[in-house]
Amino acid sequence: MSRPTVARIDTRAIRANGELARALAPDSRLMACLKADAYGTGIATAAGALTGIADGFAVACIEEALALRACGAREPVLLLQGPHTRDEIEEAFAKRLSLCLSDARHLEWLAQVSPEQRPDCWIKIDTGMHRLGFAPESAADVYAAVKTLLQRPAILCTHFAAADKADREATETQLDVFDKATRKLGAATSCANSAAVFAYPESHRDWIRPGYMLYGGNPFDHERDGVDALQASMELSAEVIAIRTIPAGDRVGYGGRWRAARPSRIATIAAGYGDGYPRHAADGTPVRIGALRSPLAGRVSMDMITVDVTDNPDATVGARAILWGRDPGVDEIADQAGTIGYELLAGMPKRVPRVTAR
Ligand SMILES: *Cc1c(COP(=O)(O)O)cnc(C)c1O
Repeated sequence: MSRPTVARIDTRAIRANGELARALAPDSRLMACLKADAYGTGIATAAGALTGIADGFAVACIEEALALRACGAREPVLLLQGPHTRDEIEEAFAKRLSLCLSDARHLEWLAQVSPEQRPDCWIKIDTGMHRLGFAPESAADVYAAVKTLLQRPAILCTHFAAADKADREATETQLDVFDKATRKLGAATSCANSAAVFAYPESHRDWIRPGYMLYGGNPFDHERDGVDALQASMELSAEVIAIRTIPAGDRVGYGGRWRAARPSRIATIAAGYGDGYPRHAADGTPVRIGALRSPLAGRVSMDMITVDVTDNPDATVGARAILWGRDPGVDEIADQAGTIGYELLAGMPKRVPRVTAR
């Protein structure tokens, strides 16, 4: 019998979320972001789930792209971070990967490899995120330079810094900067991350690039219609391995952070920050056991958490505890820990076995 701590991956949920993205942007092609092991769900699992729905897959680095090819994915694959060395350009060509060019160095390397070994390319324009990309003023020159190097025209793209916010100004400005820099070039374009798929239809263009929404995460930092349709793709659960009753006034866990205000039943659950549960989760963070949510009581340990189950008769030794999934959602847990669900999914450690449900 192995440790009863698992992340159950629901491939039907990933498919349904992919179909939702398609429905929201019916005239665009879907480049599904599978970086960070497909936001913790498993790159092969997610790629399989999205076969026939996604028109291409985007990853951060060549290792992830090679993992996709190794599991048999035949779709176009885009390296979002571009090449890190000149050799990677040749390797990308050999594996039919596309590169996102974002730096003068990338153009030099591209010119140095033989013309028949140059992969398809995207060109990233920095419209305000100020992380990667060519300046908008140089977009036309870069596009022309790449045109002389490649058989096939490059796709122009940008990335939004604040599409998840209620305030629309920053994103509208970025889109405007992008359009002014690229309109005359007649190139195919791509701008939209998950939040923009929902909130900025005018940014959908030729390719949308959602990631987080495919896994059922809510990309917004505020209430937003439509996101309720997303389905959680990962359920992290563990078992109650001990129950004890403590008197009022006693404290629980490291540092004694939680203090019993009444005689209390405390359940110990076999998952902690070593399993991806956030160490900064506050007292009161919900853990579902049976039909009820019970509040986290005390600091998260590496391999365990403690929960106040005084009011939860379903909490018995051996009962399953849902740490996140449909209810509570990963975004709610992240919020209780001062982080975002992206970090929790992308940070899921290897120690937690992924069990795939189809
Ligand atoms: C990660 C990423 C995306 C997807 O973002 P989500 O918020 O997960 O939808 C899109 N484009 C680029 C360049 C990215 O790095």
